[in-house]
Amino acid sequence: MRLASRMGRLGTETAFEVLAAARRLEAQGKDIVHLEIGEPDFDTPSNIIEAANKALHSGKTHYTPAPGIPELRQAIARYVSNTRGISVDPAQVVVVPGGKPIMFYAILALIDEGDEVLYPNPGFPIYESMIRFVGGKAVPTPLREEKQFGLDVGELESLVTDRTKMVIINSPANPTGGVLEAEDIKAIAKLAQERDLIVLADEIYSRIIYDGSFSSIASLPGMPERTIILDGFSKTYAMTGWRLGFGVMPEALAEPITRLMINSNSCTSAFTQYAGVEALEGPQGEPAKMVQAFRERRQVIVEGLNSIPGFRCLNPAGAFYVFPNIEGTGMRSKQMEHHLLHNAGVAALSGTSFGAHGEGFVRFSYANSIANIEKALERIAKSLA
Ligand code: PLP
Repeated sequence: MRLASRMGRLGTETAFEVLAAARRLEAQGKDIVHLEIGEPDFDTPSNIIEAANKALHSGKTHYTPAPGIPELRQAIARYVSNTRGISVDPAQVVVVPGGKPIMFYAILALIDEGDEVLYPNPGFPIYESMIRFVGGKAVPTPLREEKQFGLDVGELESLVTDRTKMVIINSPANPTGGVLEAEDIKAIAKLAQERDLIVLADEIYSRIIYDGSFSSIASLPGMPERTIILDGFSKTYAMTGWRLGFGVMPEALAEPITRLMINSNSCTSAFTQYAGVEALEGPQGEPAKMVQAFRERRQVIVEGLNSIPGFRCLNPAGAFYVFPNIEGTGMRSKQMEHHLLHNAGVAALSGTSFGAHGEGFVRFSYANSIANIEKALERIAKSLA
């Protein structure tokens, strides 16, 4: 079957490929420590599971309105109003299956052929994939180790042209764990207003932050009307498999995004939406405990990697990834990924899975137990000795 030519422009997320390769090795009897996949290893808090159960048993098994059930849209509007210090109307909220569809729909709805989109590199690979898929020009904004993987706003500004339509920011970031400084967010907001840019703010890790506090670009004056917030339940509430996320956007954009939902999913699964209400409005002790556990694991992995010759690892301020520089080992990133999987039994991702500027780095997810992280560190050190 001959594929449509646009499929040649659609990328992928190699985490799933490395996971599959690791599973094949496991099927052959090898022991692999999984530090490749970006998901909390905790179970979804039981109050959320109970809410889903209750919804299923009370007949919440039908289609819902395409942009989400009113109860969840209201809960999200309250949550985003409180956490971002702005006034969000439920009509600005579209509930979708995971955070990812907001990326997909926002880019599909807003980017014409030839429009330029600035996106973080190294960054979540789906940004570049989707921009190219719709015929846009993907313009990388490099995130550099020497800037703690923050954004060089001067450089960002130099990349804006008359064709630039959107800038994507992600803080806390995958794969670096970097968090944008409030000053830089302000400068990006100023640039967006001066050059009439739309901001897609990927805030999926907004609750997983260790040093300082989270700031959203949408909190700044003049920004809610040009910002799409992408957020969701996957990371904060350990709900990756539930597929539940949302976008908060100017009301006029909620209609076309809802139409994309109608054309693709019809709606997000009904009972998961009821569970989402409980997640946002129920007790918040479990997500806080998860962040505390990530904080302890972060220390173990950062110290451990820095003690391995050839590795140099910053202390990430958010998310649950480390992105050590491995140039001192003499290996390229992809070669290191292969070496770690096959010679050390540690699944990790080449920095280049996150764009060309990821060369010289690898990404480890520390959403795993301290015992497994220590096992991985020992194996890595031994394999490189
Ligand atoms: N945005 C970033 C930066 C991510 O790392 C991820 C998941 O890894 C997502 C969005 C997608 O999240 P979800 O699983 O809710 O679709």
